[in-house]
Amino acid sequence: MSYIGSQFQKLDFFNLSRQSLAVFIAENYDAPRYAADNIFKWIYRKGIYDFSLMTDLSQTLREKISESFYFGQREYLKREISADGTRKYLIKLGEEEYVEAVMIKQPARMTLCVSSQIGCGMGCSFCRTATMGLKRNLTTSEIIRQVLVVIDDAKHFNDMFTNIVFMGMGEPLHNLRNVAEAVAILTDNFAFSIAPRKITVSTVGLVPAIKKFGETVNANIAISLNATTDEIRSKIMPVNKSFPLEKLLHTLREFPVNKRRKITIEYVMLSGVNDTEDDLKRLPKLLHGIQVKVNLIPYNDNADLGFATPEREYVHYWREVLVNAGLDVTIRWSKGRDISAACGQLAYNRLNMPVKGGMPAEA
Ligand code: SF4
Repeated sequence: MSYIGSQFQKLDFFNLSRQSLAVFIAENYDAPRYAADNIFKWIYRKGIYDFSLMTDLSQTLREKISESFYFGQREYLKREISADGTRKYLIKLGEEEYVEAVMIKQPARMTLCVSSQIGCGMGCSFCRTATMGLKRNLTTSEIIRQVLVVIDDAKHFNDMFTNIVFMGMGEPLHNLRNVAEAVAILTDNFAFSIAPRKITVSTVGLVPAIKKFGETVNANIAISLNATTDEIRSKIMPVNKSFPLEKLLHTLREFPVNKRRKITIEYVMLSGVNDTEDDLKRLPKLLHGIQVKVNLIPYNDNADLGFATPEREYVHYWREVLVNAGLDVTIRWSKGRDISAACGQLAYNRLNMPVKGGMPAEA
C-alpha cells in the first residue's frame, strides 16, 4: 500500500504472485499463508473478483483486502481476425498507451503471444516494433491481463490456447522482474496452472539476464539468433555489440536444460543477408554441444523495412541440410499477416510512427 499526499492508493491485484500476496497479507494483516491460496483460487479459478464474496476468509480480512486492492481492467479495445483464424487484440493500458496480444491459430494447437513492453529498445532492424522505440516496461498485471482478456474472449470461439510465448512487443528479459512474476502466476496451480514447458520466453540475447532467468524462472527460453557472424548480427541486432556470439553461445552452453526442454534457437531468414550457403555451414558448428531445437522463420515482408522473404523451396532446403547435420528443426510460417499480427509486425498504428529500418551502412 502507498500514499500519495493524503490520497490512499490501492494496489493492482494482478501484480502479485501468490507468494508475494502471502507475504503482503502476513506483514500487513497478520493473515495466515493459506489465505493467499484461497484468494488466488477465488480469483483465478472461479473468476470471482469481489473480495466480500470470499466466504472462506474472515470478515476482517475480506474488508482489509477490499481496501488494499483493485482489479485492473480486462477488456480489449479492438480485435482483428485474420483469414487464417489468428486473432489480434489491441488493449488499452493508459492514456495513449496500448499493447497487442495475438492468438495464433495452428493446425494442432493455439499459441498465445503476449507483449512484455510498450515498444522495444533493442532496435532489431527487421522488426516493426523497433520503430516505436521503448516507451516503458509492462507491469506484471498488464501481462497477466492480456492473458485474461484472451481467455475471456476465447469463449466466443470455443477454443483456448495451448501454449504461451513471450514474443510480442518488447524484449522480455529487459523486463525480467515483471515477466518472472507473471510466469510464476501463469504456472501456479492455484491460478492458471499452465505447465512450464508450455511457456516460452524469447530474448535477443541479454547475457546476464539469461543467466538469471535460468536460475530463477521455470519456463523455456528462446534465443533470437538470426546470424552466424558478429558482422551481420551486429548490423541487424545492435545488442550483439554488447553481447557478441561467442559470449552468447558460451552462456547457452552453461544454461540449465533437461532432455525434454531444449533451448529454442530462432532464426529469422532475411533473403541474401543471413541465409547464405556459408551461414548454413556455420550454423550447426556454432550450435554444436548445445541442446537446441532450431526454429526457422522466413521473414515477414514488412512495409519498407528493407528486407526480403526467401523462397519457400530455399527455406525447405535449409531445413533439410540442418536436419542432416543432426539438428531438430521446424519452420514457422507466418500467421496473421493480413492483420499485421505476424512475427515482427506488432506496432500499433495509432502512433503513426515513421517506419525506418533496413541494413544500416555501418554496424
Ligand atoms: S525483434 Fe524483439 S527484441 Fe528485436 S526490436 Fe523487435 S520486439 Fe524488440
